[in-house]
Amino acid sequence: MNEPETSTAEKSPAEILAIVRANRDDVRRRIAHAAISAGREPDSVRLVAVTKYAEPAWVRALLETGEVDLGENRPQQLEERAALFPDAVHWHLIGHLQRNKIRRILPLVDLIHSLDTTRVVEAVDRVASELGLRPQILLEVNVSGEASKDGFTPDSVRAAWPQLCKLEHVDIRGLMTMAPLTSTSETARPVFRALRDLRDELAAGDPHRLPELSMGMTGDFEAAIAEGATLVRIGSALWRGLAP
Ligand SMILES: *Cc1c(COP(=O)(O)O)cnc(C)c1O
Repeated sequence: MNEPETSTAEKSPAEILAIVRANRDDVRRRIAHAAISAGREPDSVRLVAVTKYAEPAWVRALLETGEVDLGENRPQQLEERAALFPDAVHWHLIGHLQRNKIRRILPLVDLIHSLDTTRVVEAVDRVASELGLRPQILLEVNVSGEASKDGFTPDSVRAAWPQLCKLEHVDIRGLMTMAPLTSTSETARPVFRALRDLRDELAAGDPHRLPELSMGMTGDFEAAIAEGATLVRIGSALWRGLAP
């Protein structure tokens, strides 16, 4: 018996490119619309294309559309894929970083979104010093208070802040959060607002401090942009029509 027609293994590179391009154009249009509606410049929001579920052929197609920022949530897969794709790709680590993976990951990434304890930030600072690097990082904050989530609590990040500011080998660019998985754009919005308020509080009125807010995924990125997201991490919406 034949495999069903929809199997991605049977799609030609041209078909994959057409699907990915349509998805990407739609996401880009929605980002621009959300930005303009919020009185912001569309290019003040960077799209991080999350590739964790994507086959390499899909990622290759996305790169052909001109996207350059790719995100992986597992250090191991980021490392494998960094070897597979051009050096021009900007890699974003968006998931938990185990301390034993820091040394291998630091040279590969442009931005780590997901440092979730003081201990791991200090470990990154130490390894970065040894490697002669100063990586850009974000602090992941669990603002929704879900017990199942990684991340600093708002209070723990406030408490750690003076100590974190003394680290010389990390460039803390901002904050990251995830809204509860079941949330819609509207129920997620207070979570995003709380992250922005926390950023404003830590930056203490200095507009150049902590410029990045990484928030918003396929289900809720428009609300995140309305609340000031500068990085949206989008996976599923880019791969629609490709998964078997
Ligand atoms: C998977 C993932 C995303 C993307 O989720 P989609 O709903 O597929 O857009 C964003 N952020 C993190 C941290 C993720 O793990």
